[in-house]
Amino acid sequence: MVNYLLQLQNPQMVYTDFFEVMCEYRKGGLNPTMYIEFMKTIQLLPSLYYRHESDYKIFDKFNLTDISEDEFQIIIKEVMKRGIEKSKICWHPNADTSTCKVDGSGKIIISAAHSIQNNGVLSKIVENGQVMSYTFDKVEFDGKPIGKNHASIFWGFCNTHDAMFRPIEVSLYTGTPEQNFLYAYRGFVVASHKKIEVSNRYNFGEQSNNDIVNNKKIFDNAIITNSFSVIETEIFELPAFYPIAVTSSFYLDFDFEGNPIPHSEDRMEDIFITLFPTQKKSYFLLSYFNQDRHLYGNLGEQLRKRDNLKSDITMLIAAHAENVYFNPTYYKTFIEQYETILELIMFHSQMDYATMDENNQMKVDFSFTPSNYLNNPYEINFFGY
Ligand SMILES: [Zn+2]
Repeated sequence: MVNYLLQLQNPQMVYTDFFEVMCEYRKGGLNPTMYIEFMKTIQLLPSLYYRHESDYKIFDKFNLTDISEDEFQIIIKEVMKRGIEKSKICWHPNADTSTCKVDGSGKIIISAAHSIQNNGVLSKIVENGQVMSYTFDKVEFDGKPIGKNHASIFWGFCNTHDAMFRPIEVSLYTGTPEQNFLYAYRGFVVASHKKIEVSNRYNFGEQSNNDIVNNKKIFDNAIITNSFSVIETEIFELPAFYPIAVTSSFYLDFDFEGNPIPHSEDRMEDIFITLFPTQKKSYFLLSYFNQDRHLYGNLGEQLRKRDNLKSDITMLIAAHAENVYFNPTYYKTFIEQYETILELIMFHSQMDYATMDENNQMKVDFSFTPSNYLNNPYEINFFGY
C-alpha cells in the first residue's frame, strides 16, 4: 500500500481535495485518465470498522507510487490554498449583494481583514516588518516569522461590514460593552473561519458545524439589535507592556480548579479571549455569552483569587489559542525555549481520538486533556518580565 493511501485510515482526514491536487500535479501515479476509477475504487473499500490492510490490494492495478515528504508539502500547500479560496465569505448577519461591497458584476468582494488591529496592536510588536507566530497543524509545532501586513489576516468580511470593528480599530480601548463585544465576536469569527478553511482537509464532525451555526445565531441577533450585553467580559490588566497579541475562541473542559465543565449537546459553549498591549500595560479579556454564565462565570473569580495571572493566561493561550503573535526578539528571548513543551501541551489539549463505529459513524469521544493542565505543570511563562 502506498504511503498516501494511509489517510483513508483516518476518519478525521478529508482526502478528496488532496487526491484531486495529486491528480492535477500527476503525483503518486494519479492522473486524469485513471482518476475517476481510482475514486470509485475508494468507495469499494469496506467501512473502516471492518477494514484490513489486505483490502487495499484492489489498488494494485493502478501501479501507484509513494510520494516524498517534499511532494506531500507541495500538495498540502495547494489544498490549504483552495480551502481558503472556497471559504471566502462575509460573516455579517446582513451580508448579501445589496448590503455588502460588490464588484462590477454584483459579486461580493471579500477583503483581507485583520483579526488583530494592524496599526493599533501589530504595529506595537512588529520588528523589521515582521511578527512571530506559531501553529500546531495537528502534527507538529511550527514557529515562524510573518510579515506584519499578512499577520492575522482572514477572508471573513467585505469592506463595508468590516467597518463594524471601527470602535476597536480606531478608538482607544476603554472597556465599553461594544468594544468587549467586538473583541469577543472577532475571536469567534476568526477561529470559526479558520476551522471552515481547513475543513477540506480535516473532518471535525457534524457537531462542529452545528456549534458554529448556533453560536453565530447569538452573535447575529446581538449585532442586529445592538445588544452588546449578551457578552460578559472579565477584564484583566497586566502592569507592563508585553509584545504579545492574541484573539481566539475555544471551549474549556475544565476550569482552573480542575472541575469538569459540562457542555450541552446542541451548542458547544465557547469562551473568547483577547490579549493586546497598550503603551504601558497589557489587557487580557475573557468573554463568554451571558447565557453561559453557569459554565464560565466562576473563571474570572478563580483567576482573581489564584493571583497567578501570568501563568493562568499563559496556559489558556498555550493550550488553546490560535492566532497568537509575538515581537520576534521577545519570542527568541522568552518563548522559543518552550517550543517542545508547547507542542506537547497543544497535543494534549487539542487532539481528540476519533473512531468509526460499525455503522460508519465517526465518534470523537476521547480526549488527552489532563484535568489539572491549567495549573501549568511545565511552568512555562509567556510574560518574561
Ligand atoms: Zn458584507
